[in-house]
Amino acid sequence: KAVIWWVRKDLRLADNPCLSAALAAGGPVIPVAILDPLHDSWGAAPRFRWGLGLGRFAETLEQIGGRLILRRGDPLEILKELAEDCGAGAVAWSRHYDPGCIERDTRVKAELEKAGLAAKSHPGHLLFEPWRVETKTGGHYKVFTPMWKALRGSDLPEPERAPARWPAPDRWPATDSLEDWALGAPMHRAMPILKGHQRVGEAAAGDRLAWFLDEAVEQYDADRDIPGEDGTSRMSPHLAWGEIGPRSLWHAALRRREEGSKGAETFLKELVWREFAYHLAWHTPRLTRDNWREEWDAFPWNERVTAKVRAWQQGRTGIPFVDAAMREMWVTGTMHNRGRMIVASYLTKHLMTHWRIGMRWFEDCLTDWDPASNALGWQWSAGSGPDATPYFRVFNPVTQLDRFDRNRRYADAWIAEGRRDPSETALSYFEAIPESWGLSPSDPYPDPVVTPEEGRRAALEAYEGRSF
Ligand code: FAD
Repeated sequence: KAVIWWVRKDLRLADNPCLSAALAAGGPVIPVAILDPLHDSWGAAPRFRWGLGLGRFAETLEQIGGRLILRRGDPLEILKELAEDCGAGAVAWSRHYDPGCIERDTRVKAELEKAGLAAKSHPGHLLFEPWRVETKTGGHYKVFTPMWKALRGSDLPEPERAPARWPAPDRWPATDSLEDWALGAPMHRAMPILKGHQRVGEAAAGDRLAWFLDEAVEQYDADRDIPGEDGTSRMSPHLAWGEIGPRSLWHAALRRREEGSKGAETFLKELVWREFAYHLAWHTPRLTRDNWREEWDAFPWNERVTAKVRAWQQGRTGIPFVDAAMREMWVTGTMHNRGRMIVASYLTKHLMTHWRIGMRWFEDCLTDWDPASNALGWQWSAGSGPDATPYFRVFNPVTQLDRFDRNRRYADAWIAEGRRDPSETALSYFEAIPESWGLSPSDPYPDPVVTPEEGRRAALEAYEGRSF
């Protein structure tokens, strides 16, 4: 009997336990991606990047005789209808762990089973299922380092290989067209530029990983903090859309660590940060919505998009590190980790604005948007999260730039104003933003909306007398 594979954020053929299980059943496999009501809550850049990933994955499937079926609507109704149409007895999918997906999937599974279908979710998005990782005393981890120490030696099963030929049904069911889904519509002016910065698909992920392991992993320890260097793996969009499996990364880095690479050890540690984010989101779902430390609920955050917050969103705070990073995100859909830490600190401390406002803006702009890592990153930066940076530690974005962008390569890449010969990337920002923002590269560079000193003073005053 046929199996329906509900394709979600697992756009790959190799290292895909769900796909391997569907193939092992021995019958035809029908891959279907569904544009469902949950996607209405996704931001513009993730929807766009998902669309690019789907397009590329459809091509990959076609190369081996498969096809990606696209349908729009309630997943339960669509899966039932397809199962009937194709004579399928089972539906399989890769598990997700954020509260929105869990709620949807739980309902779908129960109803499919009621309808007599075998519905099964599979691991694959993570290295470790969140409920399988426990502290020595039996609870879940709330601090990163002990979790890392417990997991760093883990010997995981080798990733599954990609199928060479697709087990096609005699007749493929009807499909929507991807263009009709219009996943790139809301941010149309930026889309062509954003598109030019995307590496999409399983093959691109594999190529970049090979480059990283050959050329960058040895210096990763030092270079990963320098935003002007191409010193990190840039695996985040591929991981977010499942174009590479985390086990493939784990095994590749383990092999390098065994050869003595210190950078590979640090890379493995970063992969466990992603696991830590999901571990927390699964055990304490409020991570993605509310202050993880409830003591912060009474803190007088600004909760509105004020003119200063808008300047932050648009990359014109007058603080070069902040502006460079915000522009990098608008143009490329990603932002260097050091930049993320700096802009999050500036918003939540210098502008005293709720981390949720920043998290939502990131959600709208990031092509590597990840519900757990984004929430953890924001709460970590604001001080309201588990194992967070101490809340009273206020990054100075000027001295941070001196330290991490000594040659100003990053600032020059993204700031055009006041430069005699601005870089192409810096100019591309002005092509990518909406005309309504009214900005031009010939404008003078703005004065700071809040200087580092003012911001620090105001933050420390607001913290005074409180203990978190
Ligand atoms: P590398 O340095 O090559 O790291 C390898 C992988 O490890 C990454 O791809 C990622 O999966 C994981 N990783 C690295 N650092 C972290 C981290 N701090 N937390 C969780 N996982 C990590 N990452 C996202 O993937 N999506 C997000 O939406 C996201 N939002 C963030 C928001 C804030 C405020 C902060 C401070 C961090 C956020 N991060 C997010 C984490 C981190 O910035 C990115 O994962 C990293 O910059 C991606 O670049 P890379 O793939 O080259 O990373």
